[in-house]
Formats: sequence, C-alpha cells, structure tokens
Amino acid sequence: MKSSLRQLPFAARVLGVALVLSTLPAAGSAAAAPAGGVPPTVAEQDVMPHLAALQRIADRNGGNRAHGTSGYAESVAYVRHALDRAGFRTELHRFEHDGRAGYSLVADWPGGDPNHVLLTGAHLDSVVEGPGINDNGSGSAAVLTTALKVAEARLKPARHLRFAWWGAEEVGLVGSADYVKGLSAADRGAIDLYLNFDQAGSRNKRQWLVVKDGPQVDATAARAFESWFTDRGFDTFDIGVGGSDNESFGNAGIPSSGFSTGMSDCIHEACDDLANVDPATETTSTNALIGVLWQLAAARS
Ligand code: ZN
Repeated sequence: MKSSLRQLPFAARVLGVALVLSTLPAAGSAAAAPAGGVPPTVAEQDVMPHLAALQRIADRNGGNRAHGTSGYAESVAYVRHALDRAGFRTELHRFEHDGRAGYSLVADWPGGDPNHVLLTGAHLDSVVEGPGINDNGSGSAAVLTTALKVAEARLKPARHLRFAWWGAEEVGLVGSADYVKGLSAADRGAIDLYLNFDQAGSRNKRQWLVVKDGPQVDATAARAFESWFTDRGFDTFDIGVGGSDNESFGNAGIPSSGFSTGMSDCIHEACDDLANVDPATETTSTNALIGVLWQLAAARS
C-alpha cells in the first residue's frame, strides 16, 4: 500500500485523511481581537487530539512519518486541511532530497504588515525508525494549535503572521534550508524573526530550554519566553541556535528564538509514540507559544 500510494499525485494521496478532520473547529465567530490583548489559553483536549491524529497516521503508514513517505504526506495533509478550514492561505514548498520529493507547508494569516513578518515553525517529519510524536509531532501540534487560536480570535496583528511545518529536518534541516534559500533578499529582510519548536512535550523534562544564547538570537523573544516560564514557576535553561531549523534562519542572518523540552529517552526510536508525550508539558508549551506570540504579534521591530 505504501509504494502504490507513492505513485499517486500528492493531492490524491492526501484526500484519504480529510474525513478524520471533520471534528476540528471551524474559524471562530468571535469578534476580531486587536493585537496586544489578553492571549487565549488552551487545555489538553485542544492539543492532544492533533498528536493522536499523527500517531494514527504513522500507524497506518508503516510506523513512521519520515521524509518521502506516505506517512509524511498524510501529516502535511492533516495540518493543511485544518489551516485551510480556519482561513489561512496555505502553500506547499516542494524540494528534492535523496531522490524523493519533500514538502514544507507554509501558512499565512491574512493581514498585518508584510514588511514585518513573524514566522513560527516546527519540523513535521519523523525519522524512519518511529512515529516521531514528541520529535516533532509535539512542536508541530503546538504551532498548529496556536495558528488555530489566531484564527478563532480573528487576530488583527501588527506584524504579518506566518506559520511553517518543515519537511526533511531529520535528514539535515533540508526543508527549512530550502525555504530560506528560495527567499528573495527582500522577502528575507521582511522576516523580523523566526520562532522554532522542536520537542515540546518531553516526559523527562526538568526545564524549558529557551533559545537565548548567541548573536543569532532575537533577544526580545528570548526574554519573553523566559519571563513566561519563570512567572509561572517553571525553570528555564539557555541554549543557542543550532541543531534544529533555527539554524537555517541563523545562517541567513534572520534572528530567532523558541524553546525545546529536551530529548526524551525514546528520541528517534519506535517508542517515540503518543505515550512518550506528557500532556501537561505539551499544553504548557503550547500556552507559552500562544502567550509570547500574542505579545510579539503586536510589536514591530
Ligand atoms: Zn526534532
């Protein structure tokens, strides 16, 4: 089934997952929220269903969601369908790696200053050895949940908000590097900062690892994340840009921040499944992202 699926055009392969999305909320009917207002918060039941969906996708596609596989194609389709339904403009960025087509998914929330873009992203691919639910379904679900909250609030940000789910991170940051390489100088200059989330629900976490060290960091964003956690009694630890998709942006001179909950015992193994994510940690991470994004969306650097 996997190899025959691979013969089909991408759109045909992804239609199979449309039905499971019928329970997602449609774009909200609340009044439009100005940027800088009180951010919404989410509960476990807002975030964990996305991880359960990614687990089911891995389960029916040979146990993984790796670059070039039907499991990855279905993961992209799942996220894209939710975004399209919520009112985002979505686009696939296609690239080739290791003889296989790869895709990054980019979603723009209409509005905001196009010369001041706040880009938020996570890698959506797993390794071939496992379903990649903490690494990095957890970051992908946190970013998706945040995007859906933006839509539900009908947020009117000062900055333009863009969200991205990168392909082929696990084989060398390929999707994010390809995206950055494809930007014109003007488009690159319009991105004020990039926020990255790689492993947001680790069970063994003792602290949130905030991307704060080094000249490639956006200091305002790093301080905002650090404050969000310390104000709530959570410990943080400073890390630098590198080891995940921030690196692609740092290499191009685009400042970044974000955080990770650190490597789990099951990283890059078959046991990186739904049970390898702590729902409370995943929910806290998502609320930190929402809280900080709400602040940064209101500012223009
Ligand atoms: Zn990762």
